[in-house]
Amino acid sequence: MNREEKIEHIRKGKFFAWGDAAVFAAAFLLIAVFTLFAFFGFGGAGADSFSVYYRGEKIFTAPLGEDAVYEFYIEGGQGYVRALEGEPHEDYNIIEVAGGKVGVREASCSDHVCVFFGAVRSGEINCLPHRMRIAAERSEGGTDL
Ligand SMILES: [Zn+2]
Repeated sequence: MNREEKIEHIRKGKFFAWGDAAVFAAAFLLIAVFTLFAFFGFGGAGADSFSVYYRGEKIFTAPLGEDAVYEFYIEGGQGYVRALEGEPHEDYNIIEVAGGKVGVREASCSDHVCVFFGAVRSGEINCLPHRMRIAAERSEGGTDL
């Protein structure tokens, strides 16, 4: 083997090493994706709580296991959630939790898309006019079964 061939050999060796690294990276990525799917995919099975976001900011979290009715409302540019009592505010979404599902029962928004989402056990409900989002989530530390 002359010098030239040696260099060529080393170069090839390096190339294959990089190739192996790429294969490992791809395999790792696949595993990561599948793991993520197992946790959050397939309809996000196992959600046991939900959070309410206003303008992307989490403002409220409650369990899905407790049947309750909440009112989301906007006042002075801020979003709030509280247990429903009395008359709703001007800009409101009535959020109902029943049988492990969360849904918007009634809303004052312009399109009522949030109401048409119906009650969900997983995933998200969006109310674009109110910039409000409800996300069914799995609370941290929950048992995995
Ligand atoms: Zn809406």
